[in-house]
Amino acid sequence: MKHMEKDILLDLYKGEITEKNAHKIFNEAVDNFHNAKGKDDPYKLTGFDKFERTAHCLFCSFSVIAKWRYEGWPLNCAECGKKIIKEKFGWRCKIINGKEYLTHIECSKKYLKGIGYSENDLKIN
Ligand SMILES: [Zn+2]
Repeated sequence: MKHMEKDILLDLYKGEITEKNAHKIFNEAVDNFHNAKGKDDPYKLTGFDKFERTAHCLFCSFSVIAKWRYEGWPLNCAECGKKIIKEKFGWRCKIINGKEYLTHIECSKKYLKGIGYSENDLKIN
């Protein structure tokens, strides 16, 4: 396979590919990387930024990551309702009633302050 670059989240969001196609393309990029045919890592080849790649490592589906990229990431934790600051990480994907949500890894003040949340960030609006 030739060097490929494909923005799978964009294609998925536009409805040009399905979640299944996205997995196939991503897996090909992974194979390509492992076979040392390509030097670029699979996330780079398929257009992920550092937050999107983290979300994928934390078991978010490609579809939900695509939705967040183009419609905005959730601003609040689906469990405790407090602010989620994407840039500080410390979040994960959680399935609640069959749907994917963004939640803190731990909702405790201690944990969130430890990753850089201020007292003000932890107020519920
Ligand atoms: Zn929370």
